[in-house]
Amino acid sequence: MSEINTFEAAQSGRPTGPLVRGYEVIIGFETHAQLSTASKIFSRASTAFGAEPNTQACAVDLALPGTLPVMNKGAVERAIRLGLALGSHIAPRSVFARKNYFYPDLPKGYQISQFEIPVVQGGSVSFFLGDEEKTVRLVRAHLEEDAGKSLHEDFIGQSGIDLNRAGTPLLEIVTEPDMRSTAEAVAYARELHKIVTWIGICDGNMQEGSFRCDANVSVRRPGAPLGTRREIKNLNSFKFMQQAIDYEIRWQIEEIEEGRQIQQATVLFDPDTGETRAMRTKEDAADYRYFPDPDLPPLAIAAEWIERVRAGMPELPRAMAERYVQQHGLSEYDATQLTQSPALASYFDAAVDAGAAPKLASNWITGEIARRLNQQDIAITDAPVTAAQLGKLIQRISDDTISNNAARTVFDALWTGESQDVDAVIEAKGLKQMSDSGALETIIDAVLATNQKNIDEYRAGKDKAFNALVGQVMKASQGKANPAQVNALLKAKLG
Ligand code: ADP
Ligand code: MG
Repeated sequence: MSEINTFEAAQSGRPTGPLVRGYEVIIGFETHAQLSTASKIFSRASTAFGAEPNTQACAVDLALPGTLPVMNKGAVERAIRLGLALGSHIAPRSVFARKNYFYPDLPKGYQISQFEIPVVQGGSVSFFLGDEEKTVRLVRAHLEEDAGKSLHEDFIGQSGIDLNRAGTPLLEIVTEPDMRSTAEAVAYARELHKIVTWIGICDGNMQEGSFRCDANVSVRRPGAPLGTRREIKNLNSFKFMQQAIDYEIRWQIEEIEEGRQIQQATVLFDPDTGETRAMRTKEDAADYRYFPDPDLPPLAIAAEWIERVRAGMPELPRAMAERYVQQHGLSEYDATQLTQSPALASYFDAAVDAGAAPKLASNWITGEIARRLNQQDIAITDAPVTAAQLGKLIQRISDDTISNNAARTVFDALWTGESQDVDAVIEAKGLKQMSDSGALETIIDAVLATNQKNIDEYRAGKDKAFNALVGQVMKASQGKANPAQVNALLKAKLG
């Protein structure tokens, strides 16, 4: 394609990936992120999802005679945001081109896209795959409009065309063929998904098609030139993505092993059979007769505009995770978990602001809370326990008012809506730890008076006997004694 699209590094410099039956897997992604503007990329028609068919396509979207496209600034700004987030070059001047093809859902006969000079050039996405940091280089990201949709109504044996989606703004994000396994490809897609939603340029709704990936897959013997690729279109769930790429790798290796050659093709994944199926042989650029769109001037982006957008960028997840490690002493792993979404990170921040020790807040959020959210399939923003309540609860653990065990009871009462107030639950359920050493000493004395055997064994050097005594005291206090305090007092008394 263009001169920036060189794959030299795929041939050299990159370590060989894990082999599958002696073959190296090569994957490159093209992702369509639907930009979250209220109106279309070149018209004022609405982009809202789910409207009655053909109620949201206007004359401009259909390129009726006499209409002219007008660039939506919001779409350009979103492209700039992505470029800034991924360390790309933002072209001061990029060009819209017409990609000509015939299809029922494209009544214009062409799609407005960018070809030779895209708005976003280069950059990379970095993420962890297990303990290993991976970097996938981007070739480019270009602005384009979406087409309409063909709806096949099997029950009446007819197909209909819904043009509502025509003209919806897309950013197509293209990587170098840098990925070396299915797991790496899915991790890349997850990271990209996280970034586009984090910086607010795409709602990330995969079911509605707001984020769809095309996976280009080929295999080769290590050291051989790149193999012929097949492109799996429109993967709209991470689960299908994994199944489709895995199947495709197995299929290609099988073909080669049986002496056949891979033909470049566009394939579809069928979730029902778990197989990929060739849809058409792949066209190349020449088939599309690209030419600069005469209706649109080149897109000029001034340096000041880029700086304004930069000033409004949020802290990115990787930077935020790094800060959590530095500032709160969290592990890399926990910090990454907490920065899965802005909502989760805000929840953590708010709990810490409410007085929670950061490490404990992190444990509760990535443990108990994540488990319950998962179980009930709800988002952190709908968690029945607020960050302020969690902060208060953790404070009560830290100041020794309650034990960890008692905290679980309080948490459950908050989660199930039994009460809204941490202190009220502690009071009502009598969960306060016994921290009055006078009362504790009374219990300890009583336990010591009736457990001479354990005392003798302890003095004879048996640690187990000491633990048994602690257990007796805890039991006598109905679990309310502070274990650390019991330990200290017992040790002192036993000399
Ligand atoms: P096209 O213009 O035909 O879509 P591109 O050259 O733009 O082709 O490449 C499209 C995608 O395919 C890119 O993500 C690229 O990384 C990937 N790709 C190219 N060659 C291979 C290959 N041999 N194996 C796997 N992926 C590849
Ligand atoms: Mg392409």
